[in-house]
Amino acid sequence: LKLNSLRESVYEANMELFRRGLVLYTFGNASGIDRNEGIFAIKPSGVSYAELSPKNMVLVDLDGSIVEGELRPSSDTKTHLHLYQKWSDIGGVAHTHSTYATVWAQARRSIPCLGTTHADYVNGDIPCSNVISELNTKDDYEFNTGSQIISSLGNRTPTEVPMVLVAGHGPFSWGADASKAAAHSVILEEIARMALMTHSLANGNIFPLENHLLEKHYTRKHGPQAYYGQV
Ligand SMILES: [Zn+2]
Repeated sequence: LKLNSLRESVYEANMELFRRGLVLYTFGNASGIDRNEGIFAIKPSGVSYAELSPKNMVLVDLDGSIVEGELRPSSDTKTHLHLYQKWSDIGGVAHTHSTYATVWAQARRSIPCLGTTHADYVNGDIPCSNVISELNTKDDYEFNTGSQIISSLGNRTPTEVPMVLVAGHGPFSWGADASKAAAHSVILEEIARMALMTHSLANGNIFPLENHLLEKHYTRKHGPQAYYGQV
């Protein structure tokens, strides 16, 4: 089997979504790419987490053709593919229907930055996409879902915004590899949960985090001025 370490890391990322309670039954999927090979590994479609293993991850190239695998890849494979094609610096993608993030997606609301937990990961709000059109649903739905995700970032980079909500659907996240993409799904769920509770406690009287705090927290973890953590 090809690309064993990639299979292993993508398997682990999928299991992390399961262990954290972000996915039920066969919901959700994570993938990771080897940029040198131009191949990504993704969860097979409709297989339960108990039956997953590194060896049943499906390998797909950047034209969307299966390179290796007995099973069909996740039905969301074309969404992952579109993000890998568009954003050359991401190495992993994850998708769940985790409860709190999906609640915001169903309310069709972006998550405003209300605190430093959010600002540590995202430079500004977590955008909610527009609702996909009927035409784009009938014709190449999964690829077009990728387009909805990409356009929801506006002028921001996928590094500044490593997570979004797809309206009426649920969250997608990404990162340097599959493990970071899955971690961003976990963090998004926590941010969404805290934001909903803040809305409820504050009875809609919401204070967006001040720009000086947003900038401080975002830039101390990201970019040339970062000093959080170990080098
Ligand atoms: Zn979905």
